[in-house]
Amino acid sequence: MQLYNTLTRQKEPFTPLSEGHVGIYVCGPTVYSEPHIGNARGPVFFDVVRRWFAREGYRVRYVSNVTDVGHLTDDADEGEDKLAKRARLEQLEPMEIAEKYFWRYFDAMASLGVRRPDIIPRASGHITEQLEMARTLLENGLAYERGGNVYFDVSAWGGYGELSGRKADDQQEGTRVEVRSDKDDPRDFALWKRAEAGHIMRWPSPWGEGFPGWHLECSVMSTKYLGDTFDIHGGGLDLIFPHHECEVAQAKGAGKGFANYWLHWNFLTFGGEKMAKSKGALALSELIKEHGGVALRFHLLSAHYRSVSDFSDKSLYASKQGLRRLQDTYTELVRRAEGADVGADDPFGVPRERFAAAMNDDFNTPQAVAVLFDSSRDVNAALSKNPNAGFVAAAKAFFDETARDVLGIVGEQADGSAEDDTALLDGLVNLVSEQRQGARLRRDFPTSDAIRDRLAELGVALEDTPEGVRWKRSTPKEKVTP
Ligand SMILES: [Zn+2]
Repeated sequence: MQLYNTLTRQKEPFTPLSEGHVGIYVCGPTVYSEPHIGNARGPVFFDVVRRWFAREGYRVRYVSNVTDVGHLTDDADEGEDKLAKRARLEQLEPMEIAEKYFWRYFDAMASLGVRRPDIIPRASGHITEQLEMARTLLENGLAYERGGNVYFDVSAWGGYGELSGRKADDQQEGTRVEVRSDKDDPRDFALWKRAEAGHIMRWPSPWGEGFPGWHLECSVMSTKYLGDTFDIHGGGLDLIFPHHECEVAQAKGAGKGFANYWLHWNFLTFGGEKMAKSKGALALSELIKEHGGVALRFHLLSAHYRSVSDFSDKSLYASKQGLRRLQDTYTELVRRAEGADVGADDPFGVPRERFAAAMNDDFNTPQAVAVLFDSSRDVNAALSKNPNAGFVAAAKAFFDETARDVLGIVGEQADGSAEDDTALLDGLVNLVSEQRQGARLRRDFPTSDAIRDRLAELGVALEDTPEGVRWKRSTPKEKVTP
């Protein structure tokens, strides 16, 4: 397996720290507002990453945090805590805000077929451990205290810039000039901040009451659950600097080996333009309602994670069409494969290898999807010629392993409810179809036509076959208003 490692800026073979195990840490959301589509790309991608590792026989421990304290409105350690600000606006406790948006986020993830991380550590639940690391950094001469604030001393740590590749001069230019900062150097960042009067989220510390700096939680919680050195750290491209650079400095400065591989996913664009963070129109819940979670998931996986993924009505529509083709093939296979066994020679060895090669090449999901399209076309051609049961079972097994279990784009949803719905849907469509047949026998053609048209609007196509009426999903037809 080859991964592109941000740390070395090249593709490298993946070697786990411990044979057969992989530990993954991914920076999760700050739970202070409605999740937007930008929050979905990383979790969907890493959901596929962990599924693929599991498929390859690894025991996976996947940790992804939730930030509920210390993330300020300004990257240069100034401004208000994002949760506290929102709490004031909504007239709630900060922890009510955290709880509310925590579940909004995970409900949306469930709709996208994203399985829960094995551990979801919260920053506010790890204050003791964060104080411990700040103390260690002070002892190691890599931090200093100024009136209740504790800062990491960047000039004392030679490794600063190793991940982002930023040189000292670029860093200074990139940092906002702080008028009243008590830092020795504008590049220094807060490990612990003094809580001013009226600041609700505060904890006692050796330096007075305060709260942890945003970067500290990830250095602490990743190593707590995955060990001082672990395999993979992920995050969005925008986090490389300063967040991940600071994580590395803190963890290594405290004597830990930290992450061996760094994977960063690229931005989303909307009709070619970079999304403004505040763009409310792209709330995840709205998009899920309009397009369905699986369609969004499929669309995100249709671009390589290191490429920009574009959202526009046109590109989403194309993805939905493509997804529908794969789902139709799969539905047909499920229907026909009932009780059949895979024969002695499995004709899906080659596509299986191609799929694996794509996934092992730095998780090339668009390539993996292309393999499924090819297979889907071959399977449909074969199905029209009444293949033997062994072929159908082998085709279903191939789609189960790849499209369902790894990419999560066909078949049952994470909560397992979709399977029951399939039977219900089948029953309902058959019932309606029988009513239409009855109308036809009575020569009540206006009624039978109306039923067929209404079904077409819902994306259900009826086919008259010698064995009777059959139905399949189709692209929903525009409603014709006279
Ligand atoms: Zn982080």
